Amino acid sequence: MTRMAVHTALGFLVVSLGLLIMLFRWRKVRMDLWSFLPISLSSIVMIIAFFAWYSASESVYARNKAYFEVTVSDVQDSLIDRYRLYENALRAGMGLFYASDVVERDEWISYVKALDVSNHLPGISGVGYIDYVLAQDMGRYTEWVRNDGLTDFKTYPDTFYPDKFIIRLIEPYADNKEAVGLDIGFEANRRAAAERARDLGVPALTKRIELVQDKQKQPGFLLLIPVYQDDEVPATLAERRSKFRGWVYAPFVGANFMEGLTDFGGNQVDVIVYDGSKVAEEAIIFDGALPENKSQAFDFSKTTQVRVAGRKWTLQWNVTKNFNPPANYNVATLLLVSGIIFSSFVYIILTQLLRRKEIIDEEVKEQTQVIKQQGRQSELLVQQLARSNEDLERFAYIASHDLQEPLRMVRSFTGLLEEQYADKLDDTAKKYIGFAYSSAGRMQELINDLLEYSRIGTDAERYEDMHLDDILDDVLENLQERIADTKAEITSGDLPEVHGNPVRMTRLLQNLVGNAIKYQPEDAHPKIRVSSEEKEDLWLISVSDNGIGIDEKYGQKIFEPFERLHGKSEYSGTGMGLAICKRIVEDFGGTIWIKSGEGLGEDKRGATFFFTIPK
Ligand code: ADP
Repeated sequence: MTRMAVHTALGFLVVSLGLLIMLFRWRKVRMDLWSFLPISLSSIVMIIAFFAWYSASESVYARNKAYFEVTVSDVQDSLIDRYRLYENALRAGMGLFYASDVVERDEWISYVKALDVSNHLPGISGVGYIDYVLAQDMGRYTEWVRNDGLTDFKTYPDTFYPDKFIIRLIEPYADNKEAVGLDIGFEANRRAAAERARDLGVPALTKRIELVQDKQKQPGFLLLIPVYQDDEVPATLAERRSKFRGWVYAPFVGANFMEGLTDFGGNQVDVIVYDGSKVAEEAIIFDGALPENKSQAFDFSKTTQVRVAGRKWTLQWNVTKNFNPPANYNVATLLLVSGIIFSSFVYIILTQLLRRKEIIDEEVKEQTQVIKQQGRQSELLVQQLARSNEDLERFAYIASHDLQEPLRMVRSFTGLLEEQYADKLDDTAKKYIGFAYSSAGRMQELINDLLEYSRIGTDAERYEDMHLDDILDDVLENLQERIADTKAEITSGDLPEVHGNPVRMTRLLQNLVGNAIKYQPEDAHPKIRVSSEEKEDLWLISVSDNGIGIDEKYGQKIFEPFERLHGKSEYSGTGMGLAICKRIVEDFGGTIWIKSGEGLGEDKRGATFFFTIPK
């Protein structure tokens, strides 16, 4: 996944986006821009998450790869260091030869002992010396070696070369005795390396060989350092050849030489070392790659080349399961997973919201349809009602207006009749004329009230701010005669400033206070209180009395036109007073009602009228 190309991943993303949109299209034939919102927003979130994940993975990958390379180069450096260590150990051996013409076996034994090969140079099988002997000198040479303590010394194999490269000294002896007497010139690889060391005056490494003393026949090599008669490398090739004595050398088994090499890097990498510049099975010097150590998580690998004593080695590096880089993919994975979760959330929430919006839209549409229909119908109702109301009011107005004229005639003529024909009429006639006269008067009152009633709410009325205290003062002045007659006691609380028509307001209060004076037992002294109470958006005004009170069951009825609870002989009146009050109150947006049994009289006798005035 980490190294999946960006365009491949994007390709997948675009294809899945397309599929989702197709699905959308197929599911809903009608599409608006809104329906794209969830998929596009969640895709954007997804794409951002993907890029975050991708770049995080890339940087983790880059950091880990760099870590791998550093580890490889550290281990490789330690390989070179190890080689140098061996080379230096051998150079010390050269010193022995410069110190004396002949190095004897005992000297060599003590030198190698001092090196403590098995502890300090565990990669080499031993440290030895190879004599360079011309073919014609071989007899003498063998004799001399036998005299030096190796009584059964013999050289092998026989070659046709004019010069022989005979291993004379090698310690520790027991491990290497097969090598003693070997002419390493018998074989081309060894000979080539030995000659190169001699001719160039530098250490030389053989190609991959099998050591004669290694029973396991593992791949190995020889390191050869030339020794001349002078203690310096002679300047010319001719001199180097003529003054040449032999080689200090060490046989290596590849596996031993490399052993523990990768420990240095915590065994996070392993290596296969090939002799030469090719990666080929037959060139392997050392194979440190164990299949069971192969890393499952990483597959970093690298091929490098190093030059060791004139030979090129090719090293193939791989990560092991111990590979423990500093950066890991958790953050990247977390980014991706949380991105996927988040984008799913965005998708789900947005689709839910859109679905809800759709439902609401549909509901609104339906409701609007219903309301429109209802509206059309109620408009028609309302229109009809208004028309019939208007008709009624016009009728009431015209009727009361037009009736006034003939009534006035009836009253004035019955009046004239009584005055001017008094002497010609008997008492009965006078009595009848009296009835007719007062009836006409009463009818005038009724018609006046009716006229007033029908005018309320239809006349253009001026509204203004007024103090109810002032209105009450006017009312008391209008009623002063009756107040004086009945010795009525009228009190009031703090009355507010309100907005309305002062004439109507006066009429309203006058009717209520007037009734409170009127509806009293005989010879009683009326007690009346007008008070107010402030509510949130209205004023509550009450008029209480100590009068006869009202049975609650008539609470609605008394506000209807011409509805009375008493005969006119008991209490005079037209039955229009409260109807007018109700119309006035409702006209400025309030309500009016009555409560009995909470009056100012004994045992709370009396009526209380309440009405409201909106602020
Ligand atoms: P009316 O001209 O008869 O006073 P209203 O409409 O003013 O007509 O009153 C209707 C009826 O309500 C009255 O006949 C009376 O019975 C009753 N009423 C009005 N005010 C009071 C009151 N303060 N106490 C008792 N009854 C009342």
